[in-house]
Amino acid sequence: MKIDKRHVIFAMSKNNAAVARVPSGSHVTFETCDCFFDQITDESVTFSELDWNTINPATGPVYVEGAQPGDILKVEIKKMTLNRDYAIMATGKNLGVLGDELTDNAIYKVPVKDNQAFLPKGIKIDLNPMIGVIGVAPKGDDISCGVPCEHGGNMDCKEIKAGVSLYLPVNVPGALFALGDLHAAMGDGEVSVSGLEISGEVEVVLSVLKGHELPTPLIVSDTMISTIASAVTLDDAATLATKKMVTLLKQANQLTAAEIITLLSVSGDLKICQVVDPQKTCRFELPQSVLRQINLSLE
Ligand code: CA
Ligand code: ZN
Repeated sequence: MKIDKRHVIFAMSKNNAAVARVPSGSHVTFETCDCFFDQITDESVTFSELDWNTINPATGPVYVEGAQPGDILKVEIKKMTLNRDYAIMATGKNLGVLGDELTDNAIYKVPVKDNQAFLPKGIKIDLNPMIGVIGVAPKGDDISCGVPCEHGGNMDCKEIKAGVSLYLPVNVPGALFALGDLHAAMGDGEVSVSGLEISGEVEVVLSVLKGHELPTPLIVSDTMISTIASAVTLDDAATLATKKMVTLLKQANQLTAAEIITLLSVSGDLKICQVVDPQKTCRFELPQSVLRQINLSLE
């Protein structure tokens, strides 16, 4: 099944009407707009011309049959395809981490070809395609697609990419899953306020897990697991992401709290996802080689 990009939402909400209903285990392909709702096709566009009410669209939402509050939604990211030969990167006065260094806004239309991006002044970088906005409806009030939180959302985490599984909480019947905001490339921090923003398609498998208490959002790849947390301050996001990994390892019933914490200190990596959204996002990464020795099964 494919959900085309005419079906977008600008907030994750229990009140959004589902655009499709699928059984658990379904393959679904989401066609996505870029985070500017594909409004920027030219570098001469100015920020004041943009319709800021249509920023950060997510395609969906999809209702997954059988998903009930308290379950986990497993999202296996099978494939990402970028469907444009250019990406947009932007920054400006008072935007991002370094907005005080700028007096004007800047928009760059960057050619993308053969897994590389061609930046100004002849600088080439390799692509690392990733998903910026991905999540489910929250239990309470609507949350703008520009905001990351416990339901997922605008986490801008470069490890959310093809080949990994993302575990999200189910807060409302059907989960109401949506995604968008693909980046052809982005570094940890997203310091300018944007990645290489691009449209594309993402194929996922959506499965409902019953009776599991996993800290979410959680990424599982062949080489590592990562717990993700967002908060207003980077300090709080860092603490929360680390605590989630402690919570996960406690489920193994094998290690003491001090053993877990020292293990994380010597073998895990606490990293920044992004510092430019209304809440900041961190992740705690632990190698699978460590996890395998703890007898902890995620499913
Ligand atoms: Ca984003
Ligand atoms: Zn983006």
